[in-house]
Amino acid sequence: MQDFHVVIIGAGLGGLCLAQGLKRAGIRFDVYERDPAPDSRLQGYRIRIDGKGQYALKACLPPALFDLFRATASTSPRAARFLTPQLLPAGERAPASWDTGGDHDDGNGDLSVNRLTLREILLSGIEDRVHFGYAFARYRRMEDSRMEVLFEDAAPISCNLLVGADGVNSQVRRQLAPSAEPTDTGSVCVYGQVELPLAVGPDLLEDGTTVIFADGCTAILDLMRFGGDFPHLAASLAPACKLTPVADYLYWALIGPSRRLGLETSDHTPVMPALLETAMCGWHPELRRIIGASKAAAIAALPVRTGRPGVLWPFGAVTLMGDAIHAMSPAGGLGANTALEDARMLAHILAKAGADTKTICTALPDYEAGLRERASHAIAMSDRGAAMLFAAITDKIA
Ligand SMILES: Cc1cc2nc3c(=O)[nH]c(=O)nc-3n(C[C@H](O)[C@H](O)[C@H](O)COP(=O)(O)OP(=O)(O)OC[C@H]3O[C@@H](n4cnc5c(N)ncnc54)[C@H](O)[C@@H]3O)c2cc1C
Repeated sequence: MQDFHVVIIGAGLGGLCLAQGLKRAGIRFDVYERDPAPDSRLQGYRIRIDGKGQYALKACLPPALFDLFRATASTSPRAARFLTPQLLPAGERAPASWDTGGDHDDGNGDLSVNRLTLREILLSGIEDRVHFGYAFARYRRMEDSRMEVLFEDAAPISCNLLVGADGVNSQVRRQLAPSAEPTDTGSVCVYGQVELPLAVGPDLLEDGTTVIFADGCTAILDLMRFGGDFPHLAASLAPACKLTPVADYLYWALIGPSRRLGLETSDHTPVMPALLETAMCGWHPELRRIIGASKAAAIAALPVRTGRPGVLWPFGAVTLMGDAIHAMSPAGGLGANTALEDARMLAHILAKAGADTKTICTALPDYEAGLRERASHAIAMSDRGAAMLFAAITDKIA
């Protein structure tokens, strides 16, 4: 298999999980990432990994790194409470994909992990094959059916298979399937974190997840408490993996139509006073104080876009995975989980196809058919989740 060479564009969660799966299968690969370093921009904070996401990580990561992934999950309970902006009880109406019950230790439920930590785990052991500071520009089919990959400021390289794992603004997708450009839903997700201890009494948000249903938008707050010091956990479970220390924090995300959140400018730069005036106008003062305590540099906003995985692209040695083809609303908490499942399936199909280049390229339609089915299902669930979260408050109060 050493002659077959896969190039992955994008070192996000999906691309790195695929790289780990290929390493495990003995398939040669290189990952090219535009950012100069893994932590060079705000990556987001808590991410929930469901049963399928965990299964994919288990299949792709070496066992010691998978154990480390589990050990770095938040120890807060998964059970969620549903409240109005005045902190009164609201009816439980969570999207079907959310896991809001039970305890953390049953071994089956969702795990909430710190996104940068998961990325550091996914990078471990493949650092020499992940190249930062390489912005993909375009590809070109060569006469021998290999692909030539061109970068913005670096020499081209060639490969047998090119995988676009370059996220919602994928440059690979723009060339391969221009009509699959995702649609803008008109909604925005603003997210941030607050350092612990909180400025108000500990009983206000207690532990775990709090969902605030406001008119036309929803806030999700998740206490992230970690069971141990990450560098120490890494030293004992997977000594070659270097983890950045992470202190406990409160993660929050506000999701709703951009007009409802007062973020109609094209750059969606969130400013806390504007959020407090519009999105959180009339909310309980302590809730406003908690979210208002976020540092400006710890807040980001992203427009919510929906991919078009049903669009077909020409058969050949270029394919797509993750947000590059199936961006979806974060309301369902399924985007990364679906990308991890793509990675598992693609690594599995390539490993099964063996060393024969022809067999590998004819196996790709199987991967792409599964991808389309999985992605369409996840997008439909995320859309239903978003509609539920944005419904008028009168529909939701118990
Ligand atoms: C606030 C928020 C909360 C979320 N919570 C959850 C959750 O709890 N559970 C869940 O499953 N999903 C969640 N999601 C969705 C999840 O973050 C995405 O679906 C997931 O990150 C997609 O992974 P990916 O690898 O496909 O793309 P990305 O993680 O976006 O990675 C793409 C990578 O490609 C790189 N890249 C882009 N262009 C180029 C180029 N030209 N050349 C080289 N590299 C390039 C980027 O720099 C990036 O590193 C959330 C999203 C948001 C915004």
